[in-house]
Amino acid sequence: MFMHNKRLQYTVRVSETNPGLANLMLEQFGGPQGELAAACRYFTQALAEDDPGRKDMLMDIATEELSHLEVIGTIIAMLNKGAKGELAEATDSEAELYRKITGAGNDSHVTQVLYGGGPALINSGGQLWNAGYIDSIGDPTCDLRSNIAAESRAKIIYERLINLTDDPGVKEALGFLMTREVAHQLSFEKALYAITPNFPPGKMAPMPQFARTYFNMSEGDGDTRGPWNSDENFQYVGSAKQAMAVDGGSGLPEVMLQPGQAQAVEQLAARTLSDPESDPVTGADLGSGELPTEKAV
Ligand code: MN
Ligand code: MN
Repeated sequence: MFMHNKRLQYTVRVSETNPGLANLMLEQFGGPQGELAAACRYFTQALAEDDPGRKDMLMDIATEELSHLEVIGTIIAMLNKGAKGELAEATDSEAELYRKITGAGNDSHVTQVLYGGGPALINSGGQLWNAGYIDSIGDPTCDLRSNIAAESRAKIIYERLINLTDDPGVKEALGFLMTREVAHQLSFEKALYAITPNFPPGKMAPMPQFARTYFNMSEGDGDTRGPWNSDENFQYVGSAKQAMAVDGGSGLPEVMLQPGQAQAVEQLAARTLSDPESDPVTGADLGSGELPTEKAV
């Protein structure tokens, strides 16, 4: 079960309203790296998890992410409060209200006009939140790796938002939210390495002859060697030509068709056969004014 506590996880102090800043904060409310995506990601993973330790951790972090959603949503609501009241009560002239929600690079008009200044489940560009932001696959080593990446992305978005405001209360609350993503990343890393072995993911062994091969597939200057393709770590295949048909076969595709299927495919190919000897006059030729005289029709 869930319970709600009327106190926030971190106190929100907003110095002055700012609908443009509120709009940018939506990135962490209804955006792909935002708190709703994080909460839903860990909550759904926790429901299906059979390992008692991971289940407990995922449920703890999912619940904390909902608490973060409450903090960032409250910041957005506070920043929007001024414009919300003024627009609802028409306290200014039309021109002045218009300027307030669209002026100085402030594109908060959708939030104000459509959503009434409330924190909507959209990102800062107005894109609707959707479950496609969550890429859980139901394998713990894959999902933990994805969670680690999600936390690191969330941390970067918070850094960018912190750099966009000089409001000390907003900066501080965002700093807390950013810091918690770092702590979550650490927990997910520990949980990943608490599974041994954790690489490669899954149960099937990779094909040994290709599992530690590096194919240098790009032609031209600039090939660089590093630990990602070093001779210590990989069998380095230096040219793309050596990467053709590495199985030793022809490299040409084959498929077995039923007799009726083979006949139909041949009929189709015959019916749509191109004539390389032809040079047909087309509409583009006729319209171009460049038709050779001997071809004039
Ligand atoms: Mn969070
Ligand atoms: Mn997190």
